[in-house]
Amino acid sequence: MELNNSEYTIQGLPVEDIANQFQTPLYVYDADKIVSQINTLRNSFSGVNLRIKYAMKSLSNLSILKLMKAHKVDLDCVSIQEVLLGLKAGFPKERILFTPNSVSFDEIQEAVSLGVVINIDNIAVLEHFGDVYEGTVPCAIRINPHITAGGNAKIQVGHIGSKFGISIFQMSHVKKVVESHNINVVGLHMHSGSDILDSEVFLMAANVMFDCAKDFPNLQFIDLGSGFKVAYKEEDIVTNIPELGKKMSAAFKEFCKSYGRDLELWFEPGKYLVSESGHLLTKVNVLKHSPAAVFAGVNSGLNHLIRPMMYDAYHHIINVSNPQGPNRVYDVVGYICETDTFGYDRKINEIRVGDILSIQNAGAYSYSMASNYNSRFRPAEVLVYNGEAHLIRERETLEDLTRGQVDIFSNINIESSEEIVSTEE
Ligand SMILES: *Cc1c(COP(=O)(O)O)cnc(C)c1O
Repeated sequence: MELNNSEYTIQGLPVEDIANQFQTPLYVYDADKIVSQINTLRNSFSGVNLRIKYAMKSLSNLSILKLMKAHKVDLDCVSIQEVLLGLKAGFPKERILFTPNSVSFDEIQEAVSLGVVINIDNIAVLEHFGDVYEGTVPCAIRINPHITAGGNAKIQVGHIGSKFGISIFQMSHVKKVVESHNINVVGLHMHSGSDILDSEVFLMAANVMFDCAKDFPNLQFIDLGSGFKVAYKEEDIVTNIPELGKKMSAAFKEFCKSYGRDLELWFEPGKYLVSESGHLLTKVNVLKHSPAAVFAGVNSGLNHLIRPMMYDAYHHIINVSNPQGPNRVYDVVGYICETDTFGYDRKINEIRVGDILSIQNAGAYSYSMASNYNSRFRPAEVLVYNGEAHLIRERETLEDLTRGQVDIFSNINIESSEEIVSTEE
Protein backbone atom coordinates (compact mmCIF):
# COMPACT_ATOMS: atom_id res chain seq x y z
CA MET A 1 0.00 0.00 0.00
CA GLU A 2 1.37 3.39 -0.96
CA LEU A 3 0.53 6.95 -0.03
CA ASN A 4 0.28 8.83 -3.35
CA ASN A 5 -0.86 12.46 -3.45
CA SER A 6 -2.56 12.08 -0.09
CA GLU A 7 -4.36 8.92 -1.19
CA TYR A 8 -3.59 5.32 -0.24
CA THR A 9 -3.32 3.07 -3.27
CA ILE A 10 -2.46 -0.51 -4.19
CA GLN A 11 -0.94 -0.82 -7.66
CA GLY A 12 -2.39 2.62 -8.38
CA LEU A 13 -5.92 1.70 -7.30
CA PRO A 14 -7.33 3.89 -4.52
CA VAL A 15 -7.87 1.68 -1.47
CA GLU A 16 -11.15 3.46 -0.69
CA ASP A 17 -12.45 2.54 -4.15
CA ILE A 18 -11.62 -1.12 -3.52
CA ALA A 19 -13.46 -0.91 -0.18
CA ASN A 20 -16.47 0.70 -1.87
CA GLN A 21 -16.55 -1.79 -4.70
CA PHE A 22 -16.27 -4.96 -2.61
CA GLN A 23 -17.55 -3.66 0.74
CA THR A 24 -15.98 -4.24 4.13
CA PRO A 25 -14.67 -6.09 6.04
CA LEU A 26 -12.40 -7.15 3.21
CA TYR A 27 -9.08 -8.87 2.81
CA VAL A 28 -7.03 -7.34 -0.01
CA TYR A 29 -3.77 -8.85 -1.27
CA ASP A 30 -1.22 -7.19 -3.52
CA ALA A 31 0.12 -9.76 -6.00
CA ASP A 32 3.08 -7.51 -6.86
CA LYS A 33 4.25 -7.62 -3.25
CA ILE A 34 4.07 -11.42 -3.19
CA VAL A 35 6.02 -11.67 -6.45
CA SER A 36 8.66 -9.23 -5.25
CA GLN A 37 9.14 -11.28 -2.06
CA ILE A 38 9.54 -14.45 -4.14
CA ASN A 39 12.09 -12.74 -6.36
CA THR A 40 14.05 -11.21 -3.49
CA LEU A 41 14.34 -14.60 -1.84
CA ARG A 42 15.31 -16.35 -5.07
CA ASN A 43 17.79 -13.70 -6.19
CA SER A 44 19.52 -13.72 -2.82
CA PHE A 45 20.90 -17.19 -3.49
CA SER A 46 23.42 -18.00 -6.14
CA GLY A 47 25.08 -21.15 -7.37
CA VAL A 48 22.72 -23.41 -5.45
CA ASN A 49 19.69 -25.37 -6.55
CA LEU A 50 17.09 -23.47 -4.52
CA ARG A 51 13.46 -24.53 -4.20
CA ILE A 52 10.87 -22.44 -2.41
CA LYS A 53 8.06 -24.41 -0.77
CA TYR A 54 5.27 -22.02 0.13
CA ALA A 55 3.80 -22.85 3.56
CA MET A 56 0.20 -22.64 2.44
CA LYS A 57 -1.25 -22.70 5.94
CA SER A 58 -0.45 -18.98 6.04
CA LEU A 59 -2.89 -18.15 3.21
CA SER A 60 -4.52 -20.89 1.20
CA ASN A 61 -6.79 -19.23 -1.35
CA LEU A 62 -6.61 -21.08 -4.68
CA SER A 63 -5.74 -17.92 -6.62
CA ILE A 64 -2.82 -17.27 -4.27
CA LEU A 65 -1.67 -20.87 -4.77
CA LYS A 66 -1.86 -20.47 -8.55
CA LEU A 67 0.12 -17.24 -8.34
CA MET A 68 2.81 -19.11 -6.41
CA LYS A 69 2.81 -21.97 -8.88
CA ALA A 70 3.15 -19.61 -11.84
CA HIS A 71 6.26 -18.19 -10.18
CA LYS A 72 7.82 -21.64 -9.83
CA VAL A 73 7.15 -21.86 -6.12
CA ASP A 74 6.29 -25.31 -4.72
CA LEU A 75 4.09 -26.17 -1.75
CA ASP A 76 4.53 -27.14 1.89
CA CYS A 77 1.41 -28.73 3.35
CA VAL A 78 0.63 -29.68 6.93
CA SER A 79 -2.66 -31.52 6.45
CA ILE A 80 -4.10 -33.88 3.87
CA GLN A 81 -6.69 -31.23 3.08
CA GLU A 82 -3.91 -28.80 2.18
CA VAL A 83 -2.41 -31.48 -0.04
CA LEU A 84 -5.76 -31.90 -1.81
CA LEU A 85 -6.10 -28.13 -2.24
CA GLY A 86 -2.57 -27.98 -3.65
CA LEU A 87 -3.36 -30.69 -6.19
CA LYS A 88 -6.58 -28.85 -7.03
CA ALA A 89 -4.55 -25.71 -7.68
CA GLY A 90 -2.53 -27.71 -10.19
CA PHE A 91 0.74 -28.36 -8.37
CA PRO A 92 2.41 -31.55 -9.60
CA LYS A 93 2.47 -34.11 -6.79
CA GLU A 94 6.26 -34.25 -6.65
CA ARG A 95 6.32 -30.50 -5.92
CA ILE A 96 4.19 -30.90 -2.82
CA LEU A 97 5.80 -31.62 0.53
CA PHE A 98 3.60 -33.04 3.27
CA THR A 99 4.91 -32.22 6.76
CA PRO A 100 2.33 -33.44 9.25
CA ASN A 101 2.55 -33.68 13.02
CA SER A 102 0.43 -36.01 15.16
CA VAL A 103 -1.74 -37.17 12.26
CA SER A 104 -3.08 -40.70 11.95
CA PHE A 105 -1.13 -43.15 9.83
CA ASP A 106 -4.14 -43.29 7.49
CA GLU A 107 -3.48 -39.68 6.59
CA ILE A 108 0.14 -40.47 5.75
CA GLN A 109 -0.99 -43.43 3.64
CA GLU A 110 -3.42 -41.22 1.77
CA ALA A 111 -0.62 -38.76 1.05
CA VAL A 112 1.60 -41.61 -0.17
CA SER A 113 -1.15 -42.79 -2.50
CA LEU A 114 -1.44 -39.25 -3.85
CA GLY A 115 2.28 -39.36 -4.60
CA VAL A 116 3.48 -36.32 -2.65
CA VAL A 117 6.76 -36.09 -0.75
CA ILE A 118 6.35 -37.37 2.81
CA ASN A 119 8.14 -35.81 5.76
CA ILE A 120 8.14 -37.87 8.97
CA ASP A 121 8.71 -36.35 12.40
CA ASN A 122 8.35 -39.29 14.80
CA ILE A 123 10.52 -42.40 15.24
CA ALA A 124 7.56 -44.70 15.92
CA VAL A 125 5.86 -43.47 12.73
CA LEU A 126 9.11 -43.91 10.82
CA GLU A 127 9.30 -47.53 11.95
CA HIS A 128 5.70 -48.15 10.96
CA PHE A 129 6.33 -46.45 7.62
CA GLY A 130 9.27 -48.80 7.07
CA ASP A 131 7.18 -51.87 7.94
CA VAL A 132 4.36 -50.87 5.61
CA TYR A 133 6.32 -49.71 2.56
CA GLU A 134 9.48 -51.83 2.87
CA GLY A 135 11.71 -49.30 1.17
CA THR A 136 9.42 -48.70 -1.81
CA VAL A 137 8.42 -45.16 -0.83
CA PRO A 138 11.04 -42.49 -0.17
CA CYS A 139 10.60 -40.04 2.67
CA ALA A 140 12.18 -37.09 4.40
CA ILE A 141 12.86 -36.82 8.11
CA ARG A 142 12.04 -33.79 10.19
CA ILE A 143 14.78 -33.11 12.69
CA ASN A 144 14.53 -30.86 15.68
CA PRO A 145 17.96 -29.25 16.01
CA HIS A 146 16.92 -27.57 19.27
CA ILE A 147 17.88 -24.16 18.11
CA THR A 148 15.67 -21.93 20.22
CA ALA A 149 14.43 -19.06 18.17
CA GLY A 150 11.19 -17.45 17.22
CA GLY A 151 9.09 -14.42 17.96
CA ASN A 152 7.15 -15.80 20.91
CA ALA A 153 6.63 -19.03 22.85
CA LYS A 154 3.65 -20.15 20.76
CA ILE A 155 5.53 -19.99 17.48
CA GLN A 156 8.80 -21.43 18.74
CA VAL A 157 8.91 -25.02 17.62
CA GLY A 158 12.59 -25.90 17.84
CA HIS A 159 13.12 -25.94 21.59
CA ILE A 160 13.71 -29.13 23.58
CA GLY A 161 10.13 -29.33 24.83
CA SER A 162 8.63 -28.91 21.39
CA LYS A 163 6.37 -31.60 19.91
CA PHE A 164 7.85 -31.07 16.45
CA GLY A 165 10.53 -33.08 14.74
CA ILE A 166 12.79 -35.87 15.91
CA SER A 167 15.31 -34.68 18.46
CA ILE A 168 18.83 -34.31 17.22
CA PHE A 169 19.80 -36.31 20.30
CA GLN A 170 17.96 -39.33 18.87
CA MET A 171 19.78 -39.49 15.55
CA SER A 172 21.60 -42.71 16.29
CA HIS A 173 18.24 -44.35 16.98
CA VAL A 174 16.90 -42.93 13.71
CA LYS A 175 19.89 -44.31 11.87
CA LYS A 176 19.26 -47.78 13.29
CA VAL A 177 15.58 -47.67 12.30
CA VAL A 178 16.43 -46.46 8.80
CA GLU A 179 18.94 -49.26 8.31
CA SER A 180 16.88 -52.04 9.87
CA HIS A 181 13.75 -51.03 7.93
CA ASN A 182 15.48 -50.25 4.67
CA ILE A 183 14.01 -46.73 4.58
CA ASN A 184 14.97 -44.51 1.66
CA VAL A 185 15.63 -41.11 3.24
CA VAL A 186 15.78 -38.53 0.46
CA GLY A 187 15.52 -35.36 2.52
CA LEU A 188 16.35 -33.85 5.87
CA HIS A 189 14.07 -31.15 7.17
CA MET A 190 13.95 -28.67 10.00
CA HIS A 191 11.64 -25.81 10.88
CA SER A 192 12.52 -23.92 14.01
CA GLY A 193 9.55 -21.59 14.21
CA SER A 194 8.38 -18.25 13.00
CA ASP A 195 10.28 -14.99 13.31
CA ILE A 196 13.82 -16.31 13.65
CA LEU A 197 15.38 -13.04 12.52
CA ASP A 198 19.06 -13.75 12.64
CA SER A 199 20.85 -15.27 9.67
CA GLU A 200 23.48 -16.60 12.08
CA VAL A 201 20.77 -18.75 13.69
CA PHE A 202 19.89 -20.20 10.30
CA LEU A 203 23.53 -20.94 9.61
CA MET A 204 23.94 -22.59 12.98
CA ALA A 205 20.92 -24.78 12.35
CA ALA A 206 22.09 -25.50 8.80
CA ASN A 207 25.41 -26.73 10.10
CA VAL A 208 23.64 -29.11 12.45
CA MET A 209 21.68 -30.43 9.45
CA PHE A 210 24.78 -30.74 7.25
CA ASP A 211 26.40 -32.72 10.00
CA CYS A 212 23.43 -35.11 10.16
CA ALA A 213 23.39 -35.49 6.39
CA LYS A 214 26.60 -37.50 6.43
CA ASP A 215 24.64 -40.47 7.75
CA PHE A 216 22.14 -40.47 4.89
CA PRO A 217 23.72 -41.30 1.52
CA ASN A 218 20.56 -41.00 -0.66
CA LEU A 219 19.63 -37.40 0.05
CA GLN A 220 18.18 -35.23 -2.68
CA PHE A 221 17.45 -32.17 -0.58
CA ILE A 222 18.02 -30.34 2.68
CA ASP A 223 15.01 -28.34 3.81
CA LEU A 224 15.78 -25.54 6.25
CA GLY A 225 12.15 -24.62 6.87
CA SER A 226 11.29 -21.02 7.55
CA GLY A 227 11.01 -18.40 10.22
CA PHE A 228 11.95 -15.38 8.15
CA LYS A 229 10.91 -12.27 10.00
CA VAL A 230 9.11 -9.43 8.28
CA ALA A 231 8.41 -5.92 9.52
CA TYR A 232 5.19 -5.44 11.44
CA LYS A 233 6.31 -2.07 12.79
CA GLU A 234 8.29 0.45 10.83
CA GLU A 235 11.29 0.15 13.14
CA ASP A 236 11.22 -3.67 13.24
CA ILE A 237 14.43 -5.44 12.40
CA VAL A 238 13.82 -8.03 9.71
CA THR A 239 15.72 -11.06 8.52
CA ASN A 240 18.35 -9.82 6.11
CA ILE A 241 17.49 -12.11 3.22
CA PRO A 242 20.28 -11.05 0.83
CA GLU A 243 22.83 -11.58 3.60
CA LEU A 244 21.29 -14.92 4.55
CA GLY A 245 21.26 -15.99 0.90
CA LYS A 246 24.87 -15.07 0.40
CA LYS A 247 26.14 -16.81 3.50
CA MET A 248 23.88 -19.83 3.06
CA SER A 249 24.79 -20.26 -0.61
CA ALA A 250 28.46 -20.42 0.34
CA ALA A 251 27.85 -22.82 3.22
CA PHE A 252 25.61 -25.05 1.12
CA LYS A 253 28.07 -25.22 -1.77
CA GLU A 254 30.75 -26.20 0.69
CA PHE A 255 28.46 -28.87 2.16
CA CYS A 256 27.58 -30.30 -1.28
CA LYS A 257 31.27 -30.60 -2.07
CA SER A 258 31.94 -32.61 1.06
CA TYR A 259 28.74 -34.65 0.58
CA GLY A 260 29.97 -35.49 -2.89
CA ARG A 261 26.86 -34.47 -4.79
CA ASP A 262 24.78 -31.37 -5.51
CA LEU A 263 21.59 -31.44 -3.48
CA GLU A 264 18.62 -29.11 -3.58
CA LEU A 265 18.29 -26.46 -0.89
CA TRP A 266 14.70 -25.94 0.22
CA PHE A 267 13.02 -23.23 2.27
CA GLU A 268 9.39 -23.08 3.38
CA PRO A 269 8.38 -19.47 3.88
CA GLY A 270 4.79 -18.59 4.63
CA LYS A 271 4.81 -15.26 6.40
CA TYR A 272 7.72 -13.90 4.36
CA LEU A 273 5.90 -14.39 1.07
CA VAL A 274 2.41 -13.16 1.97
CA SER A 275 2.28 -11.21 5.25
CA GLU A 276 3.00 -7.75 3.90
CA SER A 277 0.87 -8.26 0.79
CA GLY A 278 -2.30 -8.40 2.86
CA HIS A 279 -4.57 -5.69 4.27
CA LEU A 280 -7.75 -6.14 6.27
CA LEU A 281 -10.03 -3.23 5.35
CA THR A 282 -12.58 -2.41 8.00
CA LYS A 283 -15.12 0.37 8.43
CA VAL A 284 -15.47 2.40 11.61
CA ASN A 285 -18.92 1.75 13.09
CA VAL A 286 -18.66 3.84 16.24
CA LEU A 287 -16.42 6.12 18.24
CA LYS A 288 -16.65 5.89 22.00
CA HIS A 289 -15.07 8.37 24.38
CA SER A 290 -14.45 6.80 27.76
CA PRO A 291 -12.40 8.22 30.65
CA ALA A 292 -9.50 5.94 29.73
CA ALA A 293 -9.48 5.89 25.98
CA VAL A 294 -11.12 6.77 22.71
CA PHE A 295 -12.32 3.56 21.11
CA ALA A 296 -12.76 3.20 17.39
CA GLY A 297 -15.07 0.22 16.90
CA VAL A 298 -14.79 -1.42 13.48
CA ASN A 299 -16.89 -3.96 11.57
CA SER A 300 -14.50 -6.85 12.16
CA GLY A 301 -12.95 -8.60 15.12
CA LEU A 302 -10.94 -11.51 16.40
CA ASN A 303 -13.15 -13.75 14.30
CA HIS A 304 -11.45 -12.33 11.21
CA LEU A 305 -7.98 -11.61 12.56
CA ILE A 306 -7.04 -13.38 15.76
CA ARG A 307 -3.30 -12.67 15.83
CA PRO A 308 -3.44 -9.58 18.07
CA MET A 309 -5.43 -11.45 20.71
CA MET A 310 -3.78 -14.86 20.32
CA TYR A 311 -0.15 -13.86 19.93
CA ASP A 312 -0.17 -10.27 21.14
CA ALA A 313 0.85 -9.54 17.58
CA TYR A 314 1.29 -5.93 16.56
CA HIS A 315 -0.53 -5.02 13.35
CA HIS A 316 -0.09 -1.49 12.11
CA ILE A 317 -3.36 0.36 11.53
CA ILE A 318 -3.87 3.11 8.96
CA ASN A 319 -6.82 5.41 8.40
CA VAL A 320 -7.01 5.28 4.62
CA SER A 321 -9.94 7.73 4.57
CA ASN A 322 -8.12 10.60 6.25
CA PRO A 323 -4.39 10.47 5.48
CA GLN A 324 -3.96 14.20 6.14
CA GLY A 325 -5.87 14.28 9.41
CA PRO A 326 -4.14 15.23 12.65
CA ASN A 327 -2.82 12.33 14.70
CA ARG A 328 -4.92 11.27 17.64
CA VAL A 329 -4.69 8.29 19.98
CA TYR A 330 -7.15 5.41 19.74
CA ASP A 331 -7.82 1.90 20.86
CA VAL A 332 -9.05 0.12 17.75
CA VAL A 333 -11.48 -2.60 18.76
CA GLY A 334 -13.69 -5.12 17.02
CA TYR A 335 -17.41 -5.87 17.21
CA ILE A 336 -17.11 -9.29 18.84
CA CYS A 337 -18.60 -9.84 22.30
CA GLU A 338 -15.25 -10.60 23.83
CA THR A 339 -12.24 -8.34 24.22
CA ASP A 340 -10.90 -8.07 20.69
CA THR A 341 -8.52 -5.17 20.52
CA PHE A 342 -6.65 -4.74 17.24
CA GLY A 343 -4.41 -2.04 18.68
CA TYR A 344 -3.99 -0.13 21.94
CA ASP A 345 -2.94 3.50 22.23
CA ARG A 346 -2.38 3.91 18.52
CA LYS A 347 -1.51 7.21 16.97
CA ILE A 348 -3.73 7.34 13.91
CA ASN A 349 -4.90 10.12 11.59
CA GLU A 350 -8.16 11.42 13.05
CA ILE A 351 -10.86 8.78 12.78
CA ARG A 352 -14.45 9.60 11.88
CA VAL A 353 -17.41 7.22 11.82
CA GLY A 354 -17.49 5.59 8.39
CA ASP A 355 -13.75 5.84 7.78
CA ILE A 356 -11.91 2.86 6.32
CA LEU A 357 -9.13 1.53 8.52
CA SER A 358 -6.58 -0.83 7.05
CA ILE A 359 -4.99 -3.39 9.35
CA GLN A 360 -1.60 -4.14 7.85
CA ASN A 361 0.37 -7.39 7.55
CA ALA A 362 -2.86 -9.26 7.16
CA GLY A 363 -1.68 -11.68 4.48
CA ALA A 364 -0.30 -14.46 6.67
CA TYR A 365 -2.25 -16.34 9.34
CA SER A 366 -5.09 -13.92 9.00
CA TYR A 367 -7.87 -15.14 6.70
CA SER A 368 -6.55 -18.67 7.13
CA MET A 369 -7.26 -18.45 10.87
CA ALA A 370 -10.62 -16.70 10.53
CA SER A 371 -13.75 -18.20 12.04
CA ASN A 372 -17.48 -17.64 12.24
CA TYR A 373 -17.43 -16.78 15.94
CA ASN A 374 -20.47 -14.70 16.94
CA SER A 375 -22.07 -16.14 13.79
CA ARG A 376 -20.39 -13.50 11.69
CA PHE A 377 -19.64 -14.05 8.03
CA ARG A 378 -16.02 -14.36 7.04
CA PRO A 379 -14.91 -11.49 4.79
CA ALA A 380 -14.49 -11.54 1.04
CA GLU A 381 -10.95 -11.69 -0.38
CA VAL A 382 -9.60 -9.60 -3.25
CA LEU A 383 -6.35 -10.01 -5.16
CA VAL A 384 -4.94 -6.96 -6.93
CA TYR A 385 -3.24 -8.42 -9.96
CA ASN A 386 -1.89 -6.49 -12.95
CA GLY A 387 -3.47 -3.27 -11.71
CA GLU A 388 -6.93 -4.75 -11.34
CA ALA A 389 -8.85 -5.80 -8.24
CA HIS A 390 -10.24 -9.33 -8.54
CA LEU A 391 -12.66 -10.99 -6.15
CA ILE A 392 -11.03 -14.31 -5.17
CA ARG A 393 -13.48 -15.32 -2.47
CA GLU A 394 -17.04 -14.23 -1.93
CA ARG A 395 -18.25 -12.90 1.36
CA GLU A 396 -20.15 -15.55 3.26
CA THR A 397 -23.92 -15.60 3.56
CA LEU A 398 -26.42 -17.02 6.04
CA GLU A 399 -26.43 -20.21 4.00
CA ASP A 400 -22.74 -20.71 4.78
CA LEU A 401 -23.53 -20.53 8.49
CA THR A 402 -26.17 -23.25 8.36
CA ARG A 403 -24.59 -25.44 5.65
CA GLY A 404 -24.03 -28.93 6.98
CA GLN A 405 -26.21 -28.45 10.02
CA VAL A 406 -28.86 -31.08 10.56
CA ASP A 407 -32.09 -29.68 11.92
CA ILE A 408 -33.45 -32.70 13.77
CA PHE A 409 -36.45 -30.75 15.00
CA SER A 410 -37.81 -30.39 11.53
CA ASN A 411 -38.89 -34.06 11.92
CA ILE A 412 -39.41 -34.39 15.67
CA ASN A 413 -42.28 -32.43 17.08
CA ILE A 414 -40.52 -30.82 20.00
CA GLU A 415 -42.99 -27.99 20.39
CA SER A 416 -45.66 -30.29 21.79
CA SER A 417 -43.35 -32.29 24.07
CA GLU A 418 -44.95 -32.89 27.44
CA GLU A 419 -41.67 -32.26 29.21
CA ILE A 420 -41.73 -28.60 28.32
CA VAL A 421 -42.75 -26.68 31.40
CA SER A 422 -45.07 -23.89 30.62
CA THR A 423 -44.49 -20.49 32.19
CA GLU A 424 -47.97 -19.35 31.30
CA GLU A 425 -50.62 -19.76 33.94
C1 LIG B 1 4.21 -22.88 9.48
C2 LIG B 1 5.31 -23.58 8.83
C3 LIG B 1 6.17 -22.88 7.96
C4 LIG B 1 6.05 -21.41 7.67
O1 LIG B 1 6.44 -20.57 8.70
P1 LIG B 1 6.46 -18.98 8.48
O2 LIG B 1 6.89 -18.42 9.74
O3 LIG B 1 5.10 -18.58 8.08
O4 LIG B 1 7.40 -18.71 7.36
C5 LIG B 1 7.16 -23.62 7.35
N1 LIG B 1 7.30 -24.94 7.56
C6 LIG B 1 6.49 -25.64 8.38
C7 LIG B 1 6.68 -27.09 8.56
C8 LIG B 1 5.48 -24.97 9.05
O5 LIG B 1 4.68 -25.66 9.87
